[in-house]
Amino acid sequence: MEIDLKHYKLYVKRKLDRLKPIFARAALGDYSRNLKIPDQEDEFLDLFVGIQIMLEVIRDQLQELRSVNEGLERLNRRKSEFISIISHELRTPLNAVQEGIHIVLDGLDGPVTQAQSETLGIARENVDRLSRMLHNVLTFTKSEVGLLRTSSRKTEMTGLLASLFELMKPAVLKKGLDFSFACPKGPVWASCDPDKIQQAVINLIDNALKFTEKGKIQLRLFVSKDRISLSVSDAGIGIPKKDQKKILRLFSRGESVLASKMGGSGIGLAVCKEIMDHHQGKILIQSRPRRGSRFTLSWPRQAR
Ligand code: ADP
Repeated sequence: MEIDLKHYKLYVKRKLDRLKPIFARAALGDYSRNLKIPDQEDEFLDLFVGIQIMLEVIRDQLQELRSVNEGLERLNRRKSEFISIISHELRTPLNAVQEGIHIVLDGLDGPVTQAQSETLGIARENVDRLSRMLHNVLTFTKSEVGLLRTSSRKTEMTGLLASLFELMKPAVLKKGLDFSFACPKGPVWASCDPDKIQQAVINLIDNALKFTEKGKIQLRLFVSKDRISLSVSDAGIGIPKKDQKKILRLFSRGESVLASKMGGSGIGLAVCKEIMDHHQGKILIQSRPRRGSRFTLSWPRQAR
């Protein structure tokens, strides 16, 4: 009896050992190996057949899942291409409208009355905003389908930010806010795609402007040996901790902003993140509700 039990234990152990490699692979998501079904008809036969059938069912379902996934990816790609084409097509007539407004406002078509200038000024602000929005949509959809190209080159950052500062100044001052720009003395060189960095900073200043009612907006550039950083700070509504974790995601908007029914699309920061990813950089958010926010973009000075 004792001998029988010993043999039986050995027999069971040998049978179970044959299952080990199958389960070890399955634990890593690999169901490709088949289980050899034993010849003897014993109590293990049903178990082995059952496991083999289970492996085949899992394999079939995985295959099905893969093709459904491929279909969804194709669909998503087509959707992105569609949005990308539409945004592109919209930009051309919009550029013409922008240009026309500028020509009239600059008096190139003759004198403009105060009232006309005010009306056209509002039209210009909105057309500019629409143009920036389309630019963001285009950037994000391109990035989604892997078509976003950044062309990094050695760029003098102080000059780039100074002109951005001048570009955004009228809108900030018009809202009655202070605006300042601080940077190190002398030229600061870094590798980046200047158009993309400009787009990211404009998004940050746009947000600072949108979420601040009084006080100051500050644009700062600072450098270390290896990294370049620039920040936009405001004295606005601030962002609660739990929102800070999600607002870099596409279409994500802060709860208080949603509750206040403030306009917005949740695209601007997602675009900033894409742009930073393309520079091997990151975005740091520091903020306290009702005290203000600081967004810092930083990337290696020698980024590819
Ligand atoms: P949008 O501004 O169009 O909503 P964004 O992607 O630019 O989209 O911003 C996402 C969200 O992040 C905003 O809805 C807001 O909740 C929050 N946010 C961004 N910038 C600021 C800021 N400077 N101050 C307060 N909240 C901000």
